[in-house]
Amino acid sequence: MKSEQVSFKCSECGGPSGERPTTIEYYEQEIFLFDPIICANCLLKLCEEYAVPCANCGGAIPPFSQVGVLKGDCGERLFVHMTTACNSVGSAFHGYFGKGEIRNFVQIEAC
Ligand SMILES: [Zn+2]
Ligand SMILES: [Zn+2]
Repeated sequence: MKSEQVSFKCSECGGPSGERPTTIEYYEQEIFLFDPIICANCLLKLCEEYAVPCANCGGAIPPFSQVGVLKGDCGERLFVHMTTACNSVGSAFHGYFGKGEIRNFVQIEAC
């Protein structure tokens, strides 16, 4: 007897994405992606294409993860990890880093 499997389609290549969430490891960071639905192969490609350097630890910040946003000296945005491993202080913003752009950008009240 087979248990019923719901198949999800990758929004990038249209292929089956397997199980949700899509889980990959990128530079020792585990990424669990629930939304959008992207297969592991495509997600890895997107990471390589859209990852930004962390202003705090210098590591790569993969897309589809929570980020902290700092204002640089010239008004540019600097991204930092929102992980305990990269414990950055003083970030006034945080948001959800999507495919090469920040999504759900929120300002935290400075205290
Ligand atoms: Zn795909
Ligand atoms: Zn970092």
